[in-house]
Amino acid sequence: MLALQGDVREHLAALEHAGAGARPVRRPEELAAVDGIVLPGGESTTMSRLLESFELLEPLRDRIADGLPAYGSCAGMILLARQVLDGRPDQRQLDALDVVVRRNAFGRQVDSFEGDLDFAGLDDGPVHAVFIRAPWVEKAGDGVEILARVPDTAGAGDAAARIVAIRQGPVLATAFHPELTGDERVHRLFVGMVHETM
Ligand code: GLN
Repeated sequence: MLALQGDVREHLAALEHAGAGARPVRRPEELAAVDGIVLPGGESTTMSRLLESFELLEPLRDRIADGLPAYGSCAGMILLARQVLDGRPDQRQLDALDVVVRRNAFGRQVDSFEGDLDFAGLDDGPVHAVFIRAPWVEKAGDGVEILARVPDTAGAGDAAARIVAIRQGPVLATAFHPELTGDERVHRLFVGMVHETM
């Protein structure tokens, strides 16, 4: 669990419930010892800055490029993307997902937004998704699997049918925060992805 900023505690609890031995990562030695990494929700520009000052940006990018499973929620999704729109010019990317994300995309209409989403591969009904100043995926490359979109309902406006959950090989990302709702299915999916690589 990347523990520089953001809702680290909620993710740690969700990972423990999902059966993982989760621990915080703040130093390169700690990063070297994990079999998977979760990037929390929070503020991507702050996390980007802290990744640089804790000398974790390059090691994290390298480990993910070497196949380390990674899961990012919200700000974590932004960091994993290859490109961000409406970001800060000095914000850095981990280049782990062949997607262009738009930061604070929902914020142009409402700051927060909740809804039930069909999530490909998850049984037992839709996922209740909480979006908080969330990004969406504006463009996804051919190798990116689309797992969930905002429902295309009349009230969804600009957000209708936007991509909000994706997977590319061992990298998973959601624009929303499953760590806040007590539904551990997304964390279980990720823990399963980590086990597949071990
Ligand atoms: N808007 C935040 C960012 O740019 C993300 C919000 C969140 O993680 N809840 O990083």
